[in-house]
Amino acid sequence: MAVTHAQPKGCATENESKALATSSKTDMMLRDQFGRPITDLRISVTDRCNFRCVYCRSADPENHMAERQLLRWEEFDRLARILVDLGIHKIRVTGGEPLVREGVEDFIARLRALGVKDLSITTNGHLLADRCDRLVAAGLNRINISLDSLDRSRFEQITRTKSFDRVMAGIDAAQASPLRPVKVNAVLVRGLNDDEVEAFAEFARERALIMRFIEFMPLDADRHWTRDLVVTAAEIHRRISARWELVPVPHERSETARKYRFAGGRGEIGLIAPVSQPFCGFCSRIRLTADGKLRTCLFSKEDHDLKPLLRGGATDKEIAEEIQAIVHEKEKGHRINEPDFVPPSRTMVFIGG
Ligand code: SAM
Repeated sequence: MAVTHAQPKGCATENESKALATSSKTDMMLRDQFGRPITDLRISVTDRCNFRCVYCRSADPENHMAERQLLRWEEFDRLARILVDLGIHKIRVTGGEPLVREGVEDFIARLRALGVKDLSITTNGHLLADRCDRLVAAGLNRINISLDSLDRSRFEQITRTKSFDRVMAGIDAAQASPLRPVKVNAVLVRGLNDDEVEAFAEFARERALIMRFIEFMPLDADRHWTRDLVVTAAEIHRRISARWELVPVPHERSETARKYRFAGGRGEIGLIAPVSQPFCGFCSRIRLTADGKLRTCLFSKEDHDLKPLLRGGATDKEIAEEIQAIVHEKEKGHRINEPDFVPPSRTMVFIGG
């Protein structure tokens, strides 16, 4: 896709110059073929994880990429700078488990220095209590912590770890820190933890935090996903509102969650329904994987390798043009509900959630 750079002319008035400068900036923004502005980026900094959640990755601890395949920090820095110049202003750092890659706080500080307005991280919380202060000092704004059961032994069964206390300590640390909001994410899987809907809602109320329920997606390494295992947002809403009055909270059109507060109570819930109520129409997201692949949808059939450009001497302008061309082709929507749907060959852990 050609990129046009409008240059203010020497003889333009001050207003004309401003208009031209704005239009030049607009030309550089990321927009797909359906006119959706792309402003959010998820960066997976590693595919390694210290958990082995059953709905996400296989039990095999060696199932991760070799170090040399991953982007180096300076390569992430360069891509982030180019992407911020292209209008990305919301970045979530994820993985794998982002806190297992050394240097992540420094990376966050450099993202902050680039002027990223909304900077967040998704973590399983295992290392959080010890690292929270450093993340805050680096300039992190907000945090999502995964917690799929409030029951210790079930937590251990799901994550294949003994980290329940550490994750709870991580949530405590986040709530005691300036990070806001603190969101806790649970993936519900029928027959595994779907009996905890009300307990999670109670947890949100007691702890005054945002509890988000994510529908199980066909991105698990072991390929166990079936539609029957999905606990829909509608069911969760019905069950919680049978017990407490829920009041809708306004949300941005591009946001993934439908949000509700409790009438007369603290806490909030978020329902993320990629399977039962896809929200692709206003999607503003792209993803960068730990090995330098740009993905325009979680469910993209293919990803786009930026490493050859990064390591092959391409200029920033060439990389920016390539990114614009890739983003232009962003899919209209995922096809989970189509009869011919095929799960992507990369699973969540290699994409970055
Ligand atoms: N390690 C971090 C964590 O646990 O939050 C970040 C990476 S994890 C892949 C990001 C999010 O993806 C988590 O909230 C996790 O629960 C979610 N996730 C993983 N596999 C999923 C699946 N098959 N369906 C829905 N969500 C999934």
